[in-house]
Amino acid sequence: MDLVIARPEGLYCPAGDFYIDPWRPVERSVITHAHGDHARGGNQHYLAAAPGGGILRARLGQDINLQTLAYGERLLHHGVTLSFHPAGHVLGSAQVRLEYGGEVWVASGDYKIEPDGTCAPFEPVRCHTFITESTFGLPIYRWPPQAQVFAEINQWWQANAAEDKTSVLFCYSFGKAQRILHCIDARLGPILVHGAIEPLNRVYRESGVYLPPTIHAGEVKKSDPMMRKALVLAPPSAGGSTWMRHFGDYSDGFASGWMRLRGTRRRRGVDRGFVLSDHADWPGLLWAIEQTGAERVMVTHGSVAVLVRHLREQGLDAQEFTTEYGDDEEDITDTEPQSAEVLP
Ligand SMILES: [Zn+2]
Ligand SMILES: [Zn+2]
Repeated sequence: MDLVIARPEGLYCPAGDFYIDPWRPVERSVITHAHGDHARGGNQHYLAAAPGGGILRARLGQDINLQTLAYGERLLHHGVTLSFHPAGHVLGSAQVRLEYGGEVWVASGDYKIEPDGTCAPFEPVRCHTFITESTFGLPIYRWPPQAQVFAEINQWWQANAAEDKTSVLFCYSFGKAQRILHCIDARLGPILVHGAIEPLNRVYRESGVYLPPTIHAGEVKKSDPMMRKALVLAPPSAGGSTWMRHFGDYSDGFASGWMRLRGTRRRRGVDRGFVLSDHADWPGLLWAIEQTGAERVMVTHGSVAVLVRHLREQGLDAQEFTTEYGDDEEDITDTEPQSAEVLP
C-alpha cells in the first residue's frame, strides 16, 4: 500500500488520515514550509516543524490550530511514525518522514542543498520512496557558489553608491530577502526594505537568525542623501508600480534562479540578474535523490517530465504526482527554458 497518494485536495496519507501541504481545506494538514502554495489557510489542524511556527502564524493568522515538532522528534499517529527533517529551503522548512509497517516515505516539499545560515541545512533522509520537487529540474540549471553571487551583488551595490544611485534589488519577500540580508556586506551602506518584507524579518530575528539593521523604505524621503547610497529590497510585484516613485536615480536587479536564463532578465527589464535560488539545481536534485537511497521517486512540481525521464533512465521507478504547487521564485510563464540562451 502506498503511504502517500495524490487526491484532489492534496497529497494524502491514507494510513494516517492526513494531508501534506494540501491545496484545498482539510481537517488534518502537515505543512513542509510557509510559502503560500504549500501552506494555505482554512485547515482545521496544522502540524509543522517548530522553527516554522512563527512564520506560519504570521502568514495564516495567530489563531490557527498549530502543533509543532522539533526536527527529528517523532510523533505516532494512527500507527504512522511522523518526523520532520531540515530541507534547507527557508526558515522552518522541513521534509516529512513517514514510517508505517516497515515502509519509509519522505515528502521533501521544496529544498535547497547549499547551506545559507538562515535555516537548518538540508539533511538527506534514507527512505524507500522519495517525493521531490523539480522546480529547476533541467540540466541547464547549475548554480554558481553563493559566495560568488554575493560578491557580485556587493560590487553592484558599491558601484551604484559611488555614482549616487539607489540599488533596488527585487527578490521574493519570504526566504530570499532574508538570505540576502544575512549574506550581504551590510557595511556598504544603509539597507531599506519594502513593507512586505519587514514583518518576515521580524520573525527571522525572533528565531535567532542574524539580519543587519533594516529601515522601512516608506519612511525615508526621496531627497534624503542616504537614499542614494542605499540597497533597497522589494518584492517583484513592486517593480513598475507607483512605489518605485520613492526613488530618484536607481539601478535595479533581480535575484532568482530564473536569472540563469538571459531571456528572463531581458523580459523583466532589469539592469542586473543575480542567479540566486532557494531550490536545488539539477545536480542538487540528483544528489539529494541519490542520498535517500530511494528506489521509487515521485515528482511533484516544476520540470516534472524531464526529471522523471532522467530517473527512469537511471533505473529508478519514477512517477509524476499531479499537484497544485506553484513557483516561489516568480517564474515567467512564457519562458521556454530549453530554447533560451543560458548565461555563461
Ligand atoms: Zn517554497
Ligand atoms: Zn514549491
